[in-house]
Amino acid sequence: MNNLQSSTKPRFKKIYIEITNVCNLQCDFCPKTKRMPKFLSIQEFEHVIDQVAPYTNYIYLHIMGEPLLHENLKEFIEIAAKKKIKVNLTTNGTLLNEEKDFLLELSALRQINISLHSFEANDQNRTLHDYVKSVMNFVKKATKHSELLCSVRLWNMNFGDIKGANSLNREIVELIEHELEIKESLEEKLCQDHSCKVSHNVYLNMARKFEWPDIKKEKFQEEVFCYGLRDQIGILVDGTVVPCCLDSEGTINLGNLYEDNLDKILSSERANNLYEGFSRRIAVEELCQRCGYATRF
Ligand code: SF4
Ligand code: SF4
Repeated sequence: MNNLQSSTKPRFKKIYIEITNVCNLQCDFCPKTKRMPKFLSIQEFEHVIDQVAPYTNYIYLHIMGEPLLHENLKEFIEIAAKKKIKVNLTTNGTLLNEEKDFLLELSALRQINISLHSFEANDQNRTLHDYVKSVMNFVKKATKHSELLCSVRLWNMNFGDIKGANSLNREIVELIEHELEIKESLEEKLCQDHSCKVSHNVYLNMARKFEWPDIKKEKFQEEVFCYGLRDQIGILVDGTVVPCCLDSEGTINLGNLYEDNLDKILSSERANNLYEGFSRRIAVEELCQRCGYATRF
């Protein structure tokens, strides 16, 4: 476990780097960002990687936005590879066409998470069949030509009063079975467990509808533990350092990587208060007091 005040640098299981906050979709569950739209430049990415390299072996190129929109994605993964950092991507899958086959040649790319629940959360101008087929074409090539892990997500399950857009889930699962030529029933497997292995390096993961914490909502907890700033941190596209991938607006602004180095930011009073608070199971930050994911991450 990390300790932000120890003499050795903390190690994070993952660091989220937002390479763009621009998206090509408008999911109905997405809070959308009010931040300035931006794409990270190669120079900025190099700077960020230099800063995070002593802290982690795994980066995730996503907080808000669609990373496959970035024209320098290949260069980013190559830059990470030179620092021996493995890369994970989360995408809505709409841009996984032949042009993105370069991803299969990049051994530093460890895992791709594909949010299939984004389809029903949008007004689409293509059919479900075309969408799932194009995603599965990529998955098939990935399993044949690389060791890339593919996790397809349906994070749209109902949870209490929270209802997800999930009327197409059965059809989606059947399309996956058809496209990947899976003989056994995935639905049966999913009834036993919400996650299952579909085939070599391919996983299907179902979870409740995703909800971002919202500073404008009623506070509902103070006594809670969270792995934010212990296992993970996030870096927004403007360089703002946040304790987790859920702080999509930079509410818990710990500092900016273009103004200070990460060592200094992580030893700031605000960072230490948050960390020590969670050690005592206290959510110090207002956002954390309104976050349903505290125990999940
Ligand atoms: S949830 Fe993700 S894919 Fe959907 S609009 Fe927001 S950033 Fe885009
Ligand atoms: S409680 Fe929520 S907002 Fe706070 S650090 Fe954890 S995941 Fe992030």
